[in-house]
Amino acid sequence: MMLEKVNKTLRALSAAALDRIAPHLCVFCDQPTGDHTALCQWCMDALEPNLKGCSRCALPYTPGLLCPACQGGTADPEPALSQIVAPWVYDAHLSYFVQRWKYSKQRRLDSIGIKLMLNASICSGNHDIMMATPLHWQRQLDRGFNQSVDLCRGLCHQRPELRDLYGLGPHLVRRRATAKQSLASGLERQYNLDQAFEVRGDVSGLRVLLVDDICTTGATGAAMATALRDAGADHVTLWCIARTPRR
Ligand SMILES: [Zn+2]
Ligand SMILES: [Zn+2]
Repeated sequence: MMLEKVNKTLRALSAAALDRIAPHLCVFCDQPTGDHTALCQWCMDALEPNLKGCSRCALPYTPGLLCPACQGGTADPEPALSQIVAPWVYDAHLSYFVQRWKYSKQRRLDSIGIKLMLNASICSGNHDIMMATPLHWQRQLDRGFNQSVDLCRGLCHQRPELRDLYGLGPHLVRRRATAKQSLASGLERQYNLDQAFEVRGDVSGLRVLLVDDICTTGATGAAMATALRDAGADHVTLWCIARTPRR
């Protein structure tokens, strides 16, 4: 057990050392990117933009402004989460990137997430506060960072107008450790998330912009939005890198 922990730490340290030595190589093709990010233009062009995403739930491959579910089908007509903004389709390329970013502790890859998120136009004037999706403290200790916090900080660096929205008092906390969402089925995800989030601070009347990395079923975003709306928030939007297509 001890040896396993030592190996894990050594792997993380070597990944961090590699980050310093080769900070400008593309994560996909290992070629120089020509800028400060780890994603070259050629590989970015190979990713699939979510051009046909539903304007409310951002599910890809739905022609028109709203998908059938959001047009009065199976979706809640007044969901706690008013809108999901996801400029990319979560495909095999992005899955590879996320695995390396989150589970190999390669924080230099934050820059890719930020670059990809900025492909969406977010109007800061439509929001009062920006919040990161919280990790449970045990998960954060294990991973070493919260990717959503890193995304918020990077977005503020790239878009100064967002700075007025981030780092304010009210925030979300994750009350309990849950099974890894990436391994759970849709129903398991929903069960994991019941009452999982708590709002700290006064969000009465606020229009909240939540930041997360990937939106899979939308269950995490919906659970956070429910907690925020129950606490008095006026409107909740989720901004993430990519949306998983309906399976
Ligand atoms: Zn590349
Ligand atoms: Zn929809």
